[in-house]
Amino acid sequence: MGAVQDILDDGLGGIQHNALTGKVEDLIRWARSRSSWGATFGLACCAIEMMGTGGSHYDISRFGMEVFRASPRQADVMIVAGRVSQKMAPVLRQVYDQMMEPKWVISMGVCASSGGMFNNYAIVQGVDQIVPVDVYAPGCPPTPETLIHAIETLHGLIETGEIMKRRAASGAGANVHITEIPAAVEPTPVLLGNAPARVG
Ligand code: SF4
Repeated sequence: MGAVQDILDDGLGGIQHNALTGKVEDLIRWARSRSSWGATFGLACCAIEMMGTGGSHYDISRFGMEVFRASPRQADVMIVAGRVSQKMAPVLRQVYDQMMEPKWVISMGVCASSGGMFNNYAIVQGVDQIVPVDVYAPGCPPTPETLIHAIETLHGLIETGEIMKRRAASGAGANVHITEIPAAVEPTPVLLGNAPARVG
């Protein structure tokens, strides 16, 4: 009787949306957020964590994101994983320009976000100088938990954002900073035969 009571109390606005009563815009936002494929853009050590996030333990296929595309025209989210050299910057921008609208960017790690410890002329001091960044994932490297946090934050932005708006050529992204999440589980030593457990 829940739905009937909701209608009696608040009219049609009181019932939970479902396949029949939901809006097309909500359906599009939901579908987009659950099928945002990544553009392959691992640049340094952070990329190892990104690859780990795609593995079976963390399993980002839960979010419809297990498909990393080598072609930017089939990708929705660019995860900039690692430091961006000055030489790579125009390549990164070209790949971003080749991605279809709508598109989003996650800056993964301190190097991509600010240059990190590479405060020198060879490294771009923040990838937001090259492309508009939607979500910043902190850490060196960010754990897969942190990257998943960034991905879920981005999904929230997609679900609440505008559908038709195209991004300006040099406009800013959402510029959302998330908190770092430490690895949840300490690695457990694996005993092989009678070998003693490795300490430290
Ligand atoms: S943030 Fe750390 S792990 Fe990531 S690219 Fe820089 S040095 Fe490597």
